[in-house]
Amino acid sequence: MSVSAGTAEKVWRNWAGNVTARPARVAAPASVAELAEVLRRAAADGLTAKAVGSGHSFTAAAATDGVLIRPEGLTAIRSVDPAAGTVTAEAGVQLRQLNAVLAEQGLSLTNMGDIMEQTVAGATGTGTHGTGRDSGSIAAQIRAFELVTADGTVLTCSAEENPEVFAAGRIGLGALGVVSAVTFAVEPLFLLTAREEPMSFDRVMAEFDLLTTENEHFEFYWFPHTANCNTKRNNRSPGPAAPVPAVRGWIDDELLSNGVFQAACALGRAAPAAIPGIARISSRALAARTYTDVAYKVFTSPRRVRFVEMEYAVPREAAVQAVRELRAMVERSDLRISFPVEVRVVPADDIALSTACGRDTAYIAVHMYRGSRYQEYFTAVEKIMIGLGGRPHWGKMHTRDAEYLGSVYPRFGEFTRLRDRLDPGRLFGNDYLRRVLGS
Ligand SMILES: Cc1cc2nc3c(=O)[nH]c(=O)nc-3n(C[C@H](O)[C@H](O)[C@H](O)COP(=O)(O)OP(=O)(O)OC[C@H]3O[C@@H](n4cnc5c(N)ncnc54)[C@H](O)[C@@H]3O)c2cc1C
Repeated sequence: MSVSAGTAEKVWRNWAGNVTARPARVAAPASVAELAEVLRRAAADGLTAKAVGSGHSFTAAAATDGVLIRPEGLTAIRSVDPAAGTVTAEAGVQLRQLNAVLAEQGLSLTNMGDIMEQTVAGATGTGTHGTGRDSGSIAAQIRAFELVTADGTVLTCSAEENPEVFAAGRIGLGALGVVSAVTFAVEPLFLLTAREEPMSFDRVMAEFDLLTTENEHFEFYWFPHTANCNTKRNNRSPGPAAPVPAVRGWIDDELLSNGVFQAACALGRAAPAAIPGIARISSRALAARTYTDVAYKVFTSPRRVRFVEMEYAVPREAAVQAVRELRAMVERSDLRISFPVEVRVVPADDIALSTACGRDTAYIAVHMYRGSRYQEYFTAVEKIMIGLGGRPHWGKMHTRDAEYLGSVYPRFGEFTRLRDRLDPGRLFGNDYLRRVLGS
C-alpha cells in the first residue's frame, strides 16, 4: 500500500476544477485488510477519512482534509457469473473497464450515464443515472456491496444480508463507510439503435409523454436562446451492428461536439452577447443520424469540454412545466447560456437517498462552461426546481441543506439513523455531509 503525507503541492482537484482539498495523508490500499488498517490509523490519529473515485463530482462530496483514500489499489474484477447474472468489481474499477470486461464475456449493465470515467463506488455513491423508461440508475442495478465501516468491520450487504444497510446504502455519499466492492446485475450483451434527431421545442414539449413511453431510453437537449432541441431515442435492436462510420463519428463526436463546441464556449465566455447567435448555429450543426452498437457505446460519449453542472430530479409529471419555466426564465433574463439543457427520465426505485426514491422521475440538468459566471443562472433554475419539489443530484452543484432534503426525501431519517449507527464518531464526515445530512 502506498501512504504519503499530504503537502501543499499535493492538492486534490475534481474534474471540473471547482473543488480542491488538501488532505493530511493520501493512501491507496490494495486490499480490504489494508483499507481497514487505513481507517483504524486515521481514527487513532484523530483524522477523518474519505474515499474518492475519479473526482467527477461537482460538489465537495469527496473532499477531505483528513486521509484521502485513492481508488487505484482496488481495481480487480473479482468475479463474473453469467449463470447468476452478476459481476463483482472492486470499488476503484472504472465503468470503462467494467464495460469492456463485461462485453468480452458477452455481458452488459442494463443502463448507463453519459460517460464511463467514474469508478463503480463513486458513480453509485451519488446516484449516477442515465435515462430509461424501465431501467433506473447504476445504483439500482446493485445486487450486493461490501462496506468497511468506521470500526474496521467488513459488512456484506444485500437483500438477504444486512438488508437495512443494503436498502439505504446503495447510494451512500461515502457517509456510511468505504465501499470495497460492488456486485451488479448483468444481462447478455445487447445492441441499441440510436436515433438522434433535431426537433422543435414545441414538438418535444407536446410529445414528451409519448416519446418517453414509446422509447426505452429517451433524452433531449434544449439549446437556450433557440426553439431547437436535439433528441436521442435508444431502443434495443436484434442487429446487425451498424456503428457510426469512423469519419462521421469523429466529425460529430470530436470535432462538432467537443472541438468546435469548446471554441464556441470560449468565444461565448469572452463575448457573451455572441452566445444566442452561436446557439442558433450549434443547435443546427448536428444532423439526424441513426446507428446501432453495443449498449455502453450508445449510452456514453466523450465529454472533453470542461463545465460545471447542476441537476434536479422532479416528479416525472412536472417535467414539461419545469422545462417551460426554465425557458421562460432564460428569455426574461439577461443570461447568456452556451450549454444545452439536458432532460432525462428514470422509473421510481427503492433506495433511500436516490433522487428517484418512490417516484417516477425526470432530470433537468444545466451546465456552464468552466470559468463562466454560473451563479445567477443556477440560482434561478434551482428556485424553479425547488418549487416543484426537486431533489438535487448529490454529485452536482446545489445549495440545499439537511432541512430541505429531509422534506423531499421521505426516507431521509432512515439514512441518517443508519449513519448514526455505523459512523457515530463521523470518521467519514466532511463539510458537504454536514450540510446535506446534518452534523
Ligand atoms: C463529464 C461528466 C459527466 C457526467 N455524467 C453524468 C451522468 O450522465 N449522469 C449522472 O448521474 N451523473 C453524471 N456525472 C456525475 C458523476 O457521475 C458523479 O458525480 C459521480 O459520483 C462521480 O464518480 P467518481 O468516481 O468520479 O466519484 P467522486 O466524484 O470521486 O466521488 C463521489 C462520491 O463517492 C464517494 N466514494 C468514492 N469512492 C468511494 C468508496 N470506495 N466508498 C465510499 N464512497 C466512495 C466519494 O466520497 C464521494 O462522496 C457526470 C460528471 C461529469 C464530470
